Amino acid sequence: MQTHRPFPEDRFSTLRIGNARIRTTRSLPVVNPAFGTAFTSVPHAAPEHLEGAVAAAQDAFAQWRALPWAERQSRIEALADRMAQAREELAELMTLEQGKPRHSAAIGEVDYAVDWLRGIARQRLNAKVLEDKPHHHVEQSYVPLGVVGLIVPWNFPLCLAIWKLAPALITGNTVILKPSPYTPLTALRLAELAEDVLPPGVFTVLTGDDMLGQWMVDHPGIAKISFTGSSATGRKVMAGAAAHLKRVTLELGGNDPAIVLPDADLDACVPPLFWGAFGNSGQWCVGIKRLYVHDDIYPQLRDALIAYARSIPMGDGMDPANLLGPLQNARQYAKVLDLLDDCNRQGLRIAHGGAHPAPDRQGYFVPVTLVDNPPDDSRVVTEEAFGPILPILRYRDIDDVVRRANDTGYGLGASIWSRDTALAQTLADRLEAGTVWINEVYVHGVDFPFGGHKLSGLGLEHGAEGLAAYTNLKIRMTAR
Ligand code: NAD
Repeated sequence: MQTHRPFPEDRFSTLRIGNARIRTTRSLPVVNPAFGTAFTSVPHAAPEHLEGAVAAAQDAFAQWRALPWAERQSRIEALADRMAQAREELAELMTLEQGKPRHSAAIGEVDYAVDWLRGIARQRLNAKVLEDKPHHHVEQSYVPLGVVGLIVPWNFPLCLAIWKLAPALITGNTVILKPSPYTPLTALRLAELAEDVLPPGVFTVLTGDDMLGQWMVDHPGIAKISFTGSSATGRKVMAGAAAHLKRVTLELGGNDPAIVLPDADLDACVPPLFWGAFGNSGQWCVGIKRLYVHDDIYPQLRDALIAYARSIPMGDGMDPANLLGPLQNARQYAKVLDLLDDCNRQGLRIAHGGAHPAPDRQGYFVPVTLVDNPPDDSRVVTEEAFGPILPILRYRDIDDVVRRANDTGYGLGASIWSRDTALAQTLADRLEAGTVWINEVYVHGVDFPFGGHKLSGLGLEHGAEGLAAYTNLKIRMTAR
């Protein structure tokens, strides 16, 4: 029988707003998805707490923006140092609240976030002279926006928060972060670590449910919302932001295709295809969600994926033997089970997995499932599963597979697998996606802009464009 260790009920019992520690009247339970039971609770912010956080962030803004860039850089690097020191604790919190294996939490989230903070803190947005004539001088520069609201989901709670926090802070903004109500702990620990390196009000974490996100969107004192989550919520954020012409960056859902050409190196591509689809138990925006395989290699690749899948244990992330964890929350679990049921109702061929978890199984576990060449209009193909279910689809003709790959409202990422990189690059240009990877997938970098086309988002993160998204461009013209 699996168990989990007791967790102190009052470990995260207050919010820090400005210099004050606030105890809220309501609280939010935090569930360990490997067991489906609540193991602690966190404060639930009310509108007055948001008011306090916005006021503290506005107060802190003038001083923070006035610091030399290098000084902000060193404060952010100090936060990275604190996080590195707290690596094991952060990873454990992550596994308890998110479910992912502890090893992945440490490497894929904490180490990654530390490197990312440092990488972004080193970036610069330099002023530029656009015209320098004897009678006229024109210069462009970037100024921070003010208070920025960050709203993030539960699949990568730390790394997605850092993707936003680092550029928002280095460009001189002050920040209010709202983690997902399902994964508040790592964010609250991050706020604690920031306490002795960032001045009060520069970075506040508020925990609460979806309504808190909506209040942030509606708040006139917040200049920008940087949001990562579903396309449905992204629409609401954009609609709410319109009232104040608030800036938005929206990183939304995806239904990423991977196309395997007949000449692909199958031995080399099976592990990355598997992890691209099933890493984090399928819960990632740029996960492979439709796998198109050429007829000539279809049976071979399908069987190799099945064999690989059989070797990957799934279970409680605190057990180091497990390489895949549960789905993160009951809502997502129900959604993915419904998709599985739909596959069964439609009589689709299940090549691997597919069984409903036993009714007495604790936690939100859905087995790795490969669906064998379902019709293009089946839900498992058209919907973003965000779970460990992958349709493998046959194709024969390149033009046809490009059309099918693009036949979705989403446009986040895509990948092509082939030994012929010139051909793959030509195909990449035809795919409607913000990022197309060739013989790799889900690689990101601080200098590579990332964002979705179509329903997958608006605006960019990372790179110069991502940094500039936390600023207003300002032009200064001088007649002389
Ligand atoms: P979600 O949209 O339900 O929630 C995301 C966040 O928004 C949460 O913090 C939630 O509390 C908050 N929220 C909910 N309603 C809100 C509202 N009306 N106003 C403001 N905030 C609100 O998404 P989720 O289920 O947490 O995450 C899964 C989705 O996120 C998937 O669709 C996935 O593809 C997407 N995602 C995208 C990226 C990317 O970079 N493009 C990365 C990770 C996840």
